[in-house]
Amino acid sequence: MFPLNTRVLIVDDMASLRDLLKAYLRRLGFKHVTEAVDGRDAYQTLIASKAAGNPFELVISDWNMPNMTGLELLKLVRGIPDWKNLPFLILTTENEKEKVMEAVMAQVSNYIVKPIEERTLEEKLLRTWQKLNPPT
Ligand SMILES: [Mg+2]
Repeated sequence: MFPLNTRVLIVDDMASLRDLLKAYLRRLGFKHVTEAVDGRDAYQTLIASKAAGNPFELVISDWNMPNMTGLELLKLVRGIPDWKNLPFLILTTENEKEKVMEAVMAQVSNYIVKPIEERTLEEKLLRTWQKLNPPT
């Protein structure tokens, strides 16, 4: 599983969803959770923290957001060599499930269908960690 000191960036245009994700992550024990309100805010936050030497190690992003969508953010992130393998989970709604393939093509690490439950989030995080750190 992701270490509990992993620096996590959550991205959603809805404050209530950010609060929910934050509460789940805190309950799971994560100590460093930061939020961004849309893709553009997230990208600036990612760049700034990288420049400051405190890069984020996990991104959990909504898809539908003003200014920059989660998919656009994912594509920008994957365009940066250091972030080719940055764990990036995207949130979709039930009726967007067919769009998941688009995110897979853009190298998303995993996806979660809303509404999000704490146990689902935990499972997806665990599977993502296992996928990125296969047993040797
Ligand atoms: Mg949204």
